[in-house]
Amino acid sequence: MTVGLTGRAVFAGVAGDPVAHSLSPRLMAHWIRTLGLDAAYLPFAVPPSGFEAFVRGLALTQASGLNVTLPHKETALALADRATPAARVIGAANLLTFHEDGILADNSDAAGFLAALEPAEPDYAGSTALVIGAGGAARALVHALVTSGVKNLLISNRTAGRARALAAELAPDAGIVPWDDRDAALAEADIVVNATALGLKGENDLVMDWAKARTGAIVFDSVYTPLVTGFLGGARQAGLKTIDGLDMLIGQARPSFRAFFGQDAPADPPVRPVLLEALGARP
Ligand code: NAP
Repeated sequence: MTVGLTGRAVFAGVAGDPVAHSLSPRLMAHWIRTLGLDAAYLPFAVPPSGFEAFVRGLALTQASGLNVTLPHKETALALADRATPAARVIGAANLLTFHEDGILADNSDAAGFLAALEPAEPDYAGSTALVIGAGGAARALVHALVTSGVKNLLISNRTAGRARALAAELAPDAGIVPWDDRDAALAEADIVVNATALGLKGENDLVMDWAKARTGAIVFDSVYTPLVTGFLGGARQAGLKTIDGLDMLIGQARPSFRAFFGQDAPADPPVRPVLLEALGARP
């Protein structure tokens, strides 16, 4: 029987523009239900013009915090009173928590990415990683790879200047691979990451010549709609280890859940089948 919320309920949410596509409410509701918490997690569609006022208003209530998605991640960092090193280095926040002494900005995308890679047991210290892309997601993934101690880092982006700027800021030792040479770089890469928006909604897949890839390479796609992009499908066909963006989404949500509700997100029953169902994919 559903008892409903009491007046002491803890709540949090996700703000984006748009937010209707977000899987976070489903994901958080699954964990809240599993633990039987007196808590709620809501989607908030907030236009950029109202974002700061919205956050400051929400922080006045009993809300414990807020996840932030596009296009608000940079503004979220800018308006916070304090920020974690990860949020500062990445230059964006996807997690705000409300405290008596102000708003704390954090970024859990890097941790979520590393959590997604964990089952594939990457040997970072002995690995070369190729990151394709240089936008917001790439910043988080590059930061994650640098902090995990990856041996060599290669970055390839359509706009080479953005790749150089990203490397200068986050990974000065990284090699810049010209966009048209990215297939050749596969021969060196133990970890290959799509951090571009290519493949999103089945449009403009990121096509790679997987025959050039190293045996045993780990291939990750930050895109998860569709779950198996052309990029990931090609790598899978070539017999490589593949990891989809849904595992990163789940990985970045765990620190948020702990921060909002004071408990670890339960491992059982697993949340992935719930999200696959929401995506219309087969578990
Ligand atoms: P962004 O800041 O707008 O960056 C977009 C990136 O895609 C840039 O590197 C851009 O290259 C590249 N790109 C776009 N269109 C391209 C094209 N036609 N050809 C070649 N490159 C192209 O976006 P973002 O925030 O980094 O997001 C990237 C992806 O990561 C999105 O699909 C997002 O959904 C996903 N993401 C997933 C998670 C997760 O939890 N799984 C978390 C965050 C983001 P240029 O610099 O040349 O424009």
